[in-house]
Amino acid sequence: MTSESATGAINPPTQETVFLGIDVGGTNVKLGLVSTAGVIFVRETLSTPQLRTPERVFEAAIAFADSQLAKLDRASVTLAGVGLGVPGVLDSEESVLREVVNLPGWEGKPLKKLLGNAKNLPNAVVNDANSAAYAEHALRSLGKKSLALVTLGTGIGCGLVINGSPYGGDHGCAGELGHTPIRFGNDALTCTCGKRGHLEAYAGTKGVIQQIQQVATASKNDEILDLLSTNDLTPKDIALRAESGCDLCIAVIQQTAEYLGQAIGQLAQVMDPDVVLLGGAMTFGGSQTGIGQRFLDTVQTTVINTTLEQVGSNLTLEFASLGNDAGVIGAAMVAQQVMSK
Ligand SMILES: [Zn+2]
Repeated sequence: MTSESATGAINPPTQETVFLGIDVGGTNVKLGLVSTAGVIFVRETLSTPQLRTPERVFEAAIAFADSQLAKLDRASVTLAGVGLGVPGVLDSEESVLREVVNLPGWEGKPLKKLLGNAKNLPNAVVNDANSAAYAEHALRSLGKKSLALVTLGTGIGCGLVINGSPYGGDHGCAGELGHTPIRFGNDALTCTCGKRGHLEAYAGTKGVIQQIQQVATASKNDEILDLLSTNDLTPKDIALRAESGCDLCIAVIQQTAEYLGQAIGQLAQVMDPDVVLLGGAMTFGGSQTGIGQRFLDTVQTTVINTTLEQVGSNLTLEFASLGNDAGVIGAAMVAQQVMSK
């Protein structure tokens, strides 16, 4: 088994198989050798623009795994599989990206085959939202139960694990919670996708800043309007201001929680999951702050108020716990799951 000390230093596993997790984003490729229990014991971050193509990313990832394993006693630690997490619309049947931004040259490539060419081991390719959700699912030992991990930020994504397995949908778009309609009619806000009334237009970063702008204009709050005019107000600032008692920021965070709760309520009513987690950059302080907790409570109350009793009241709603490691851990654990089938 592996263990992680309070300082973050990891003791390598002994007598064990390990999995390589590759989490590809537009800026970074995160790599990790992950134990069967889901603990990263060695990690690396590389530059995506520098490596550019999937072939070179996989080559660098395998070189990393080989060099790290060479430092250990290879007779007792074996690389058993490779998992890859990618952003965008993934055709999970073909393991091909049908649509992706910020990864030029990746669209249409046979990723599973290329991964196999780089290292002839069992492998799995999964959407990054689903790999993160799968990591949280495995950490909580949920077995066959279902989980949704909602990621809050500029966009609002959602990874799904249904009946114990990551679920991408037939067209790679399952769980696109940001594009769930919460308002209808011609006065509904226009989303980045071009359609109206979607959650992301209201509760994505841009939507939240727009809400602040409206309330600050209506209440003639010059301090906030000045900050907005210089783009000096981030969701993190809004959370800090709310924490220090700014009524305007508290009201906007509460409103955002209600929007989010309405969309999560729809998701929960259709999917009836056991657990829904909130993660990403815009959790308003998360579990660390009173404002974050209040945000979560309002999401939960809204879900309960808009769903059947059995759905809303039995749903566990919490903040995600794995943060930036979730993608790497999940990719590795999906590879492990594929092998055990
Ligand atoms: Zn949309």
